[in-house]
Amino acid sequence: MDTDIGKLYGVGAVKKEAYARLGIHTVGELLSHYPRGYEDRGNVKLLSESDGVSKCAYLLTVATEPRSARIKGRMSLLKFRAYDDSGICEITFFNQEYLKNTFTPGTLFRFYGKADLKGKNYSLTSPVYEPVIEGAELPPLVSVYPLTEGLSQKQIAKDVRSALVLASAKELDDPLPEDIRRRLGLSPLAYAQRNIHMPESFSALAAAKKRLIFDEFFTFALGLSMTKKENEKHPAHPCLNVDVSKLTSTLPYSLTGAQRRVISEIASDMRKDVAMNRMVIGDVGSGKTVCAAAAMYIAVASGRQAALMAPTEILARQHHADLCALFEPLGIRCELLVGSLGASEKKRIHKALAEPDPKKRIEVVIGTQALLSEGVSFHSPGIVVADEQHRFGVGQRATLAEKNLLSHTLVMSATPIPRSLALAMYGDLDVSTLDEMPAGRQRVDTFVVDEGYRERLDGFIRKQIAEGGQVYIVCPAVEDGEEADLSMEDIDGDGNVLRRAPLRSAVRFSAELAEKFPDLSVEFLHGKMKSRDKDAVMQRFASGKTQILVSTTVIEVGVNVPNACLMIVENADRFGLSQLHQLRGRVGRGSRKSYCILVSDATEGNARERLNVMKSCYNGYEIAERDLEMRGPGDFLRGSGETSVRQSGGVKFKLAALCDDMGLMKTAFAEARALTDTDAELSAHPLLRERVSKMFSLEAGTIN
Ligand code: ADP
Ligand code: MG
Repeated sequence: MDTDIGKLYGVGAVKKEAYARLGIHTVGELLSHYPRGYEDRGNVKLLSESDGVSKCAYLLTVATEPRSARIKGRMSLLKFRAYDDSGICEITFFNQEYLKNTFTPGTLFRFYGKADLKGKNYSLTSPVYEPVIEGAELPPLVSVYPLTEGLSQKQIAKDVRSALVLASAKELDDPLPEDIRRRLGLSPLAYAQRNIHMPESFSALAAAKKRLIFDEFFTFALGLSMTKKENEKHPAHPCLNVDVSKLTSTLPYSLTGAQRRVISEIASDMRKDVAMNRMVIGDVGSGKTVCAAAAMYIAVASGRQAALMAPTEILARQHHADLCALFEPLGIRCELLVGSLGASEKKRIHKALAEPDPKKRIEVVIGTQALLSEGVSFHSPGIVVADEQHRFGVGQRATLAEKNLLSHTLVMSATPIPRSLALAMYGDLDVSTLDEMPAGRQRVDTFVVDEGYRERLDGFIRKQIAEGGQVYIVCPAVEDGEEADLSMEDIDGDGNVLRRAPLRSAVRFSAELAEKFPDLSVEFLHGKMKSRDKDAVMQRFASGKTQILVSTTVIEVGVNVPNACLMIVENADRFGLSQLHQLRGRVGRGSRKSYCILVSDATEGNARERLNVMKSCYNGYEIAERDLEMRGPGDFLRGSGETSVRQSGGVKFKLAALCDDMGLMKTAFAEARALTDTDAELSAHPLLRERVSKMFSLEAGTIN
């Protein structure tokens, strides 16, 4: 599996580079580059059943000899007709004259594409085509992979096929102990790998998914129990008994009881010579930042340095502004370190962080993952705070700890994860909960509506803006047509298929709204934008220049715009309840009466029932419990933010982030515990051990 990807036939230097951009260097990594969805080519329709929107498979017989024509200089066109029992279809290809000989009249093909009705006849442009040969079956499902420039679906599929051949030729050992596999009725690894890429059927795909999800949980749980022991007694520089009221008395409000309690838990941890490893869990708006600030103040007042790491640049900048306002009046120097800074500026900060002279040293630094980069080294680290824990975790925490020997660690999670899940996922941390909201927080009235409500919704947007408010609209997709017709999530544990409404995209929807509201300023925001552009858009919204911000879930994490009073979530059924709760927390932060409107046409399963929970429930923990019950752990592992980010705790969950079965996760954790109880170092399971090291991005051999 460690075979270089360049060894595959047809993968040269250029392709290798393209694969590297996807993080794929070896055959094994290619095999775990899972499809994001599938083309449902087995579901053959008649031309007359086409809806003119979605791609479909059609079985058509070629009726006419293909004719080619030149258009616009060097462009050429190939046209012919084909038919089924319900109609005739005009098929067009561009610049593919050589196909002339492929489509002989009378032959049958499976075409896959979007069929439009034009006049009497249908039309298909550049469809996928596969000859139907008697006795040979065409695959029902065809993988759709995440792509990068220089790689096509075809190329990846071909390389995956060679990788599978190679893997089966070598008869690779399955790292999962055979007795566990049999006892739990999981499919063999080779079967799972083949069927996730080239499913024989929906049920084979479901079995493959289950096995691979189990593997991810199992590996993660093994790694957790192995690192846990190591983390337990890591020495740290003890801090002084600091009077935190010097800081908190400057606040325009008094702390809640929960904040006081959490700060004193942190303070007592930090006075010890054993590293604090604590997580603060608190609902959106529960006031976690002040707790972090107090911890940072304790470190600085003890002559040490403090760092705060945020998952996005937007959030890092906002924290920097807020914390500067707190710290600078106390004479504490506070700087920002993010990826977009110029090289010389970065160098200056790196130098001032490593500065031995306490007068010239930076005492507080706020940044993104740029804080983990090589040039960063603290002269006397005191505390590292990671905001929004679900984006960082064991792996990165290990990097942080290595970089900052003797430092305390505090992580903050805005996702109120259910206790059972927290214990499983963060068993290596002590947990503090901020279970009390600051007084005077208003309740954000929540409604669930369908498309039929659209016009009234537009009126409501107008009204809110006329009264001086601002509106967030969250869409699940960035651009149109990102989706495969079946996404990996659409296939449940039994191989049943969910058919769902197409996703609304932020870019398209903001254009539609700009047309609908020509007098208003509408902008869009998504994670694929450059961070400078994102910041500018967010800045214009925060300052009130933009009235409507259409975005993906990038705005979810921590951003504060008190004037925003309406949150609309499109395709709301596509989000986890906890995620919706977090989104809802973006409004109702100021004095305006605020609303959250969940738009969804979903009728399948318990979609409606799930969304209705949001109308009556405002407690993040309760919502999280309900979500876990109804949707499984996947939503929590996916973390929040852009839905394409399948990452949790710094460990990348690929398929596990789609898991709708809490039972499977619990089983994997229990099996991992049982195994490490008898073989703590996995000495008898070198393949498993290697897998664990890979998942946690540590060199093989350093975990123990
Ligand atoms: P989160 O827990 O979501 O990170 P923040 O720390 O950003 O929440 O706090 C949200 C808002 O509540 C901020 O504007 C902050 O100033 C305010 N806040 C925090 N603690 C209190 C309190 N005890 N009383 C009133 N307002 C508070
Ligand atoms: Mg926060």
